[in-house]
Amino acid sequence: MARGRVVKLDRGYPLVKVEGLDPFRCEHATALVKGRRIRSVIGDFVDVELPCGHDNGIIRSIEARRSQFVRRDPAERTSSQVLAANFERVVVVEPAVDLNVKRLERELVLAHEAGVQVSVLLTKADLVSSARELEAVERLARDLAGSSVEVRSMSTAHPETVDAVRAWFPEGTLGVLLGKSGVGKSSLVNLLVGQQVMETGAVREGDGKGRHTTVSRAIVSIPGAGDVVDMPGVRGLGLWDADNGIEAAFPDVAAFSSECRFRDCKHEAEPGCAVLAAVQRGDLASVRVESYRALKDELDQMRRRREEARQMRGEKASDQRDSRKGAFRARSRYNRGSARR
Ligand code: GDP
Ligand code: ZN
Repeated sequence: MARGRVVKLDRGYPLVKVEGLDPFRCEHATALVKGRRIRSVIGDFVDVELPCGHDNGIIRSIEARRSQFVRRDPAERTSSQVLAANFERVVVVEPAVDLNVKRLERELVLAHEAGVQVSVLLTKADLVSSARELEAVERLARDLAGSSVEVRSMSTAHPETVDAVRAWFPEGTLGVLLGKSGVGKSSLVNLLVGQQVMETGAVREGDGKGRHTTVSRAIVSIPGAGDVVDMPGVRGLGLWDADNGIEAAFPDVAAFSSECRFRDCKHEAEPGCAVLAAVQRGDLASVRVESYRALKDELDQMRRRREEARQMRGEKASDQRDSRKGAFRARSRYNRGSARR
């Protein structure tokens, strides 16, 4: 047995790296996955039985996750999906041209929910018409993200702009890139590594496979720095348990909400609402409160659906009680890692 890390996921078995050995494919031990939906994700630390001959290794257990990235399962709305584990930073990547405020807000919520350091990278700065314009976009991103989040911009046209970004990936840590396809994440990784380790948009389009077929996810080591993993295909960033993420991503709203008369104030029309008062005084932008409420509403709706689904299962599946309990135990052990920190 050895301790390894899942460094690549694609359509095949997870690729596991054990210190001193070449990465090898691993199956999950039957006892680990039987009757549950536990699967290792990228970044997981696992105990593996080493492969002999041409066999695959076997994952015997998955260590509790120090941090994890969870979204609502796009295929099954009432369950969640872990996309990456055990990382120290999330870098939200947005283009400096046509910055999408709503998407940035949502990405910041998801990033903060992981409970790690968060930064924002504005890519394609060369496409912004002037230095003043770029400053304005950076300021907008800083205002949205709050003071705990570092905001930088870069462009592949000026490779030296990546140097400052390197500091976000210190040796011995894993950073996760979060941003929609086409924003320049692969280009960033190539610059960090100093060679073409990832196919970029132009290449992917040219090879005839199309860019949306990229399903593999791999941890890449940056020479002299830490590791980084891009999350391609992070479409439909549905919120899961994101209360902490919302509070952290809206520090401006949160600063006032602690003064509301009611602890569960929704900042809609309640008396003694400090958030609405701040908007009235002009101390808080109303669009920020609207975004905050929309995300909270989404969370409430998702919770209701989850509760309904749970009750449906409870009514219909009384004969499967044991397997459900098993599933719950499994969830609380592996999917709630961040909640226990
Ligand atoms: P990904 O899907 O997020 O990995 O994005 P890619 O790195 O594949 O980039 C998508 C497209 O944007 C490619 O055609 C890149 O050449 C282009 N691109 C990436 N970064 C920059 C940049 O800084 N400036 C410009 N002008 N184009 C960029
Ligand atoms: Zn309020």
